[in-house]
Amino acid sequence: MAQRYVMAIDQGTTSTRCILFDQNARLVSVVQREHRQYHPRPGWVEQDAVEIWRNVDRIMPQALRDAGVGAEQVAALGITNQRETAVVWDRHTGVPVGRAIVWEDIRTEELVGELTARPESSGIRERCGLPLATYFSAPKLRWLLDNTPGLRERAERGDVLFGTMDTWLIWNLTGGVSGGLHVTDVTNASRTMLMNLTTQSWDDELLSFFDIPARILPEIRASTEIHGRTTRVVPGVTISAALGDQHAALFGQTCFAKGETKCTYGTGSFLLMNTGDTLVKSEHGLLTTIGYQLGGEPATYALEGSIAVTGSLVQWFRDKLGLIQSAPEIETLARTVTDNGGCYIVPAFSGLFAPHWHSEARGIIVGLTSYISKGHLARAVLEATAWQTREVVDAMTAESGVPSKALKVDGGMTADHLLMQTIADVLDVPVLRPMVAETVSLGAAYAAGLAVGYWPDLEGLRRNWHLAARWNPQWNAADRDAEYANWKRAVELTFGWAKP
Ligand code: ADP
Repeated sequence: MAQRYVMAIDQGTTSTRCILFDQNARLVSVVQREHRQYHPRPGWVEQDAVEIWRNVDRIMPQALRDAGVGAEQVAALGITNQRETAVVWDRHTGVPVGRAIVWEDIRTEELVGELTARPESSGIRERCGLPLATYFSAPKLRWLLDNTPGLRERAERGDVLFGTMDTWLIWNLTGGVSGGLHVTDVTNASRTMLMNLTTQSWDDELLSFFDIPARILPEIRASTEIHGRTTRVVPGVTISAALGDQHAALFGQTCFAKGETKCTYGTGSFLLMNTGDTLVKSEHGLLTTIGYQLGGEPATYALEGSIAVTGSLVQWFRDKLGLIQSAPEIETLARTVTDNGGCYIVPAFSGLFAPHWHSEARGIIVGLTSYISKGHLARAVLEATAWQTREVVDAMTAESGVPSKALKVDGGMTADHLLMQTIADVLDVPVLRPMVAETVSLGAAYAAGLAVGYWPDLEGLRRNWHLAARWNPQWNAADRDAEYANWKRAVELTFGWAKP
């Protein structure tokens, strides 16, 4: 019998990838396409959902062609995606009502301020596990309903559908206007602010608080579930998993036991800890979320520390300051000096996420003297990622009472050895990177493969995790503590900058 594979589509913030994995979790083919980012005003970030769908239409068949694999050899398809990004489209034409509002977009800052001032806002976090912030889907959806002429009426008549990118892709892959499935999974739903974390269904109080009509929302399903077969692009493939990208990375890193933690370093960075069947309510600025839900089993919860700006600071350094030509050059430039020269950069471009949740914070560069060179700035860029990780790890430790012993990492920034060493130094624990750095796609593939019996169980998946690189801490405690104190002072300077 011909060999079989599992396909993953990773619909990320900057690009969409299609990857085929074999049973040993080896990458058989990878095809990637970037999509445009639109910045029509300061703080606004938009994407064209149709462009993203067209990219999927090209990369899926290409991934099969590159591997010389037929559609009938694909045992299952898992979808993973950038979370929170909101798209609304016409169910009769399949055309989006406007561009998708991306998770980083802060246009809803004023709306979030108004909502926060309402007395009922105090009960929100209890229900959905999230603080009121521009980051999540509900304020974005509310903004679209308020600011797109006629949209609320169309929504109330049932003519338009809302979704995150998982929902948009599954609807299109399963037929679009001719009967596409309108579904999402619990992990994606847990980022909208509209799902009740305990019941895992849409919550009437939250819908009424945000003034969202229930009929535009997709059906919430488990993370692994046989949704149906694709009818377009590559017809006949079983779609059996959907998960938000960070949840997929937790799964791909095989963090199946309570207490296991990973951090994914991409555009932003996201540290998740599996908390098993316990819904931990955070006192230290972390988010409570669903890790994953396998079929009919109870959901596995997670705590998350989300950092908005890490890899995107490197992009800013490259594209807006022009001090490097490519992202990897940041390491070369940073190595031209031995320390930060007293300079710190706090990239609060869209406010600060975990553990601060200050929407109005704005970025800062401090400690400038005539001594500072572009090498020092490059160091400060990399250190910003390391210190933001430290703040989140401290919050995790305070929450769980268990100090971390090591950090499993993945994502595009883990190619940077200096950064990984700096993270080990500031955390004072080893940093471990697995052979397959594409853990987001791998997690979606694992989930999809488990659902159809391609992989038998979680233990089998654990055996596929192999260490590729390890960075051990080298700093002494006095230097670490002094630098951390400086970082914290710099962070305080960003609070409330935009509003005197
Ligand atoms: P995403 O999935 O969020 O699109 P990726 O995991 O593909 O992100 O990582 C891309 C990000 O990593 C970019 O923001 C880029 O600036 C950053 N990056 C890539 N290579 C390096 C490097 N060698 N050093 C530092 N940052 C890097």
